[in-house]
Amino acid sequence: MQIIHRISISSTPEIRGELAALGVIVGASGLVTFEVDEAHEAWSALRQWIAKSGAADIVSTKFSERELAEASWFALEPGWHHGYPQPIEAHFGYRDATYAKASFCEQCGIGLEQKAPFQMKSEPRWGRNGILQLYWVFDEFFVTPEVWSTVFNPNGVGCRPVLDVDGTELKTVVQLVIQEQVGVVVMGLEVERCARCERVKYFPVTRGAFPPLASEPPTRMAKTREYFGSGASAHKGVLVSREVARALAAEKVRGALVRPVRER
Ligand SMILES: [Zn+2]
Repeated sequence: MQIIHRISISSTPEIRGELAALGVIVGASGLVTFEVDEAHEAWSALRQWIAKSGAADIVSTKFSERELAEASWFALEPGWHHGYPQPIEAHFGYRDATYAKASFCEQCGIGLEQKAPFQMKSEPRWGRNGILQLYWVFDEFFVTPEVWSTVFNPNGVGCRPVLDVDGTELKTVVQLVIQEQVGVVVMGLEVERCARCERVKYFPVTRGAFPPLASEPPTRMAKTREYFGSGASAHKGVLVSREVARALAAEKVRGALVRPVRER
């Protein structure tokens, strides 16, 4: 795998000089962006420079064909987000409309349980995509009915309707129903404990493979028992088996990415 950092900073002649000394050539003014692979010989010096300079650093991982072919489970991650859950967007109205909040903690975001269909403003503008995530809801995926019947239904994944704010069922989108939950091996993950409810969540995995599963799910799609996130946001990880990942690739479904789960 290649671990790639996308670095952005507002340049000055001084910053230009510091980067040139590390072998990176950028302009002397304006916002500059460059990518560097952790395998680069100057990476350790650059990492120190990033920490010192306060540059923005977005990390991503490119997995090899072999790593993708050998994994038996994958974390399913959004390639885009489209729209906000409804109603009453300005006051997070979806939380009351869609979820039971008995065990919800506003401070850390843990504990929402879905009780009703999601609502969207209107039919999604899918473009060339076939799978989407809403903003704020990072542990649910929505697909076109076609993607559900070609990819998910054959793999035993159910779906439920999505409504508009008047309660009319939308025709071009369904929610995937993910009931199974599986634990992950959390050793080595950065953890945050909520001061109010004392439950824990883990820092989202953005670098390298997803942590190993504690057991093999009996289904082909599952959520993690553990929550991930930071601040007031918490979500479970969404996992798909090799069969689902292959079906997504075979059907050329756009809108989500897969991250291999590390074997135990
Ligand atoms: Zn809490």
